[in-house]
Formats: sequence, structure tokens, C-alpha cells
Amino acid sequence: MTETKDPGPSREETEKKKGRMNLNRVEMPKQEPEDRRRNFDEVATGYTYEMAMEEASRCIQCKKRNCQQGCPVNIDIPDFIKHLQDGNIEAASRVLKAKTSLPGICGRVCPQELQCENSCTLNKKGAPVAIGRLERFIADWERSQGAVSTPEIAPSTGKCVAVVGTGPSGLTVASDLAIRGHQVTMFEALHVAGGVLMYGIPEFRLPKEIVQREVQYVASLGVDIQLDTVIGINYSLDELLNTKYHAVYLATGAGLPQFLRVPGENLNMVYSANEFLTRTNLMKAYLYPEYATPVKMGKKVAVIGGGNVAMDSARCAVRLGAQEVYVVYRRTRQEMPARLEEVENAEEEGIHFHFLCNPTGFISDGRNNVSAMELIRMKLGEPDASGRRRPVPIEGSEYTMDVDTVIVSLGTSPNPLISSTTPDLETSRWGTVVTDERGKTSKARVWAGGDIVSGGATVISAMGEGRRAASAMHEFLSQ
Ligand SMILES: Cc1cc2nc3c(=O)[nH]c(=O)nc-3n(C[C@H](O)[C@H](O)[C@H](O)COP(=O)(O)OP(=O)(O)OC[C@H]3O[C@@H](n4cnc5c(N)ncnc54)[C@H](O)[C@@H]3O)c2cc1C
Ligand code: SF4
Repeated sequence: MTETKDPGPSREETEKKKGRMNLNRVEMPKQEPEDRRRNFDEVATGYTYEMAMEEASRCIQCKKRNCQQGCPVNIDIPDFIKHLQDGNIEAASRVLKAKTSLPGICGRVCPQELQCENSCTLNKKGAPVAIGRLERFIADWERSQGAVSTPEIAPSTGKCVAVVGTGPSGLTVASDLAIRGHQVTMFEALHVAGGVLMYGIPEFRLPKEIVQREVQYVASLGVDIQLDTVIGINYSLDELLNTKYHAVYLATGAGLPQFLRVPGENLNMVYSANEFLTRTNLMKAYLYPEYATPVKMGKKVAVIGGGNVAMDSARCAVRLGAQEVYVVYRRTRQEMPARLEEVENAEEEGIHFHFLCNPTGFISDGRNNVSAMELIRMKLGEPDASGRRRPVPIEGSEYTMDVDTVIVSLGTSPNPLISSTTPDLETSRWGTVVTDERGKTSKARVWAGGDIVSGGATVISAMGEGRRAASAMHEFLSQ
């Protein structure tokens, strides 16, 4: 049965509603900072049914869908909120699932404050509708009911697709193509699927059970997931193309950490955020010795960087028993790329921020362990290519800071394994794979998207690129 789309309220009705707007959003309950400093349980505990209904009732169902335009995967936001207002959570879930296979994840980690919520009409006068929290509520409700709505799957096309990497970009392509009737196999280097969602983002922000449930949802669409399989070692990209696969999507992310390249960086207890978070989250070092991987943590910890990865590292360090944790960032608070909500959470948990300073070296305690950090103060100069003001060192402002653990969180770049074993795959000088706007690479029958193309962005942008590539791949496979 085809549903006729509700034309929604007229402009006049919307204007009338604007006059009676509720400008205050329903806050989401959180664990108290003192409690959560000692555990890895989820910090925000989610809306109750009553809270979700109250928050949904704030939406004035605008005629002009500003929120939807602000969503990188174009979710029909007013429609899912309307279903919530009517108390039909199942229908709300169907609307979400039509555009995202990962609502429980997006509802937790997407930067809604820069996207849909930023564009929400209510944002002009007060707090925008808490779209992300409502999305999370719907996904969690579905999980608690044991109900899973799956879209209709098209009859088999007889075409096979390989998706390399099981992060959000790969999962989006896999589900989009499976729904269109193609046989999809995913290859994952690690022993679990989910990419950064499993090995990077900590449990207290994104419970792993939620990630695995959404991975299972993708598998339930008929997608085969092959773990412990490294493309570039177990099979080359050309082998995939020359055997049964008609097309390949590369979504191997950007897992290679960048370093400061300053003296002393190879001392003991100077970690890359990548290693530190992988040990802590994927290998569950916080449950050592129940789990076999330990992670050594000092008392005075410096985390270098200002993004989400730095916030996650600092907050893990607190939970692993560090007494003082400092985030050291070379620009100011305004330029920090981390989500505002996570910066506030970090502050509540007692993390200190040192702005406008940069490490120039690390000092040994004489036994090859880091014991102090040399820094220089910075000031902001002219804007650089990213539009942010460039940090410039202030001559003669050097100082030292005692630390016994350092976590370097300066960003990542793609692992060169696939590009180095595929000479005809064009890459940029930063090692990212070059594509057109629909994800097509220089190599026939190969598309790519997510962090391997952007060099590091967000879950939703990785999904958005996956969505665009999947539609291009489907066109190619349908020829
Ligand atoms: C700690 C941390 C916190 C973050 N927080 C946020 C946040 O709050 N909000 C947000 O929107 N974004 C956040 N991000 C960014 C976001 O997670 C990434 O942009 C996103 O995961 C990229 O997705 P992807 O699918 O491109 O790659 P990934 O998630 O990196 O997945 C790539 C997968 O490919 C696998 N792989 C790699 N090489 C091979 C190979 N040769 N063969 C087979 N498999 C391979 C990897 O093991 C991995 O599982 C965060 C990132 C990190 C590291
Ligand atoms: S979420 Fe905001 S922009 Fe979207 S329809 Fe509701 S009030 Fe309007």
C-alpha cells in the first residue's frame, strides 16, 4: 500500500504556531559527574516516554523543512516527529530507517548542533527541537521492544559487491545496496565490525551493544560480514575485482595516527590516542584483568589536541584513575573542533583546559619514561586554509609542565595498505583516495567514501558519502 504524504500545515498555521512556541527543550538525564568519573557506563541515560512526547510536542511542523535540509542524509525529520506526536513510535522508526540504518548511533554522536538542530526554526529564538535525542529515543524504544522494522528487499539482481571496512560509511553502502537486491560481502580487518564506533568512541558515549545491534540489523538485510580479513594482505583489491565482485566500495577510514614530531615523543607513556583508545575500548582495558589487555595510566596526564578524539582520551584517562588531566590545545576554545556537549561533559568531569600552547618536546625521567613536557605559548594570527585563525608561537614564552602520561591526539590519515598495493588507485598527497562527487575513484568499478576520502570527518558525513556512492554504484550495476 502506498502512503499519501501529509501536505503538512499551511504557512498561516505554521506562523500561528510560531507565536506559541515552547522555547525550552526537555533536558536529558545524565549520570552525576562524581559518579561517572568512576565508571564507563553511558553518561546520558536517554529520554523517558513522557520526556520524548513532551519534546516532540515542541515541533511546530514547519512548512519549510529547514531541519531536513540541515541533515546530511536528508532524514524526513518533521515526519518522524509528527508520528511521535501521534504516539506512533513504530511509524516514526520506519521514517528514520528509510534514510539511516544507524539511528541509535547517529542519535548519540552526530553533531546535530551544527546540522539539523542548527537549522531548526526554533533555534532562532530559543533552544531547537532536540532532534538527535528523539532519534535516539526511537532507536532505543525499538530495541527495548525487541521490534525491528526492516524495509522491503528488492529481488536479487545477481550482482555481487564487496565493501571494504565496516565503519558507518561501509555499513551504509552495504545496507543501501542489499535493499536494492545486490549480494553484498563486507570485509573487516578487525575481529569485530563497526570501525571507529567500536574501537574509538568510548562505551560511555556510545555503548558497544548499540553498535553491534545496528551491525546485526545490516546483516539481517542479507549482508555477509567477513571479519579478520585485511584487504591488501589476505586479498588484493584486484583479486576482489577479478573474482566474483562486480563493484567494490572502499571505506577503510583513516586509522593512521599523526604525531607532533618533536624530541622525546618515543618515550614510554607517550601514547597515540589511537592506541590508547583501541586498548581501552575495543580491547576493554578498563576491565583488566577480566579482559587480557592492560593500559598503564599515570597520575598527571596531558592530552594534546582539541577534537572529539582528545575529549574521549581525556575522559577515558579520568575513568582509568588519572588524578589530573589537562587538555592542551594550540588555539582557543572557540576553534575547538570537538562537540560542545562533550567539551561541557569533560569540564564537568574535572578536566582542565590549557589553550594557546603547544608542546615542543618531552623530557625523560632518566629511565625512558616521560616526566615533563616543554611547551611554548601561542597567539592567533591570520586565518589559514580551514578558515580558523592560525596559531603562531610567541618567542621567549617557553615553559615546562610536569606530566607522567601524554596522549597525542592530532588527527589521523588513511592507512596506505590498499593504495600501496593498488598502483592505479589515485591518491592525494595526504594519502586520501581521490574520488568524484559521487565517490567514483580513478579505478574502474571502484568507489570510496568516508574518512579514507575526507581524511577524517564525522559519522554522518561518512554515511552521506556512502549513500551517494551507493546510488551511483546501483546505477552502474543496473546497466
Ligand atoms: C575517538 C573518536 C571519536 C569520534 N567522535 C565522533 C563523534 O562524536 N561524532 C562524529 O560524528 N564523529 C566522530 N568521530 C569520527 C567518526 O567516527 C569517523 O568520521 C567515522 O567513523 C568514519 O567512518 P568510516 O566508515 O569512513 O571509517 P571507520 O569508522 O574508520 O571504519 C573503517 C573500518 O575499516 C577497517 N579497515 C581498515 N583497513 C582495512 C583493510 N585493509 N581491510 C579491511 N578492513 C579495513 C577498519 O578496521 C575499520 O573497522 C570520532 C572518531 C574518533 C577516532
Ligand atoms: S524540527 Fe524544527 S525546523 Fe523541523 S519541523 Fe520541527 S520546528 Fe520546524
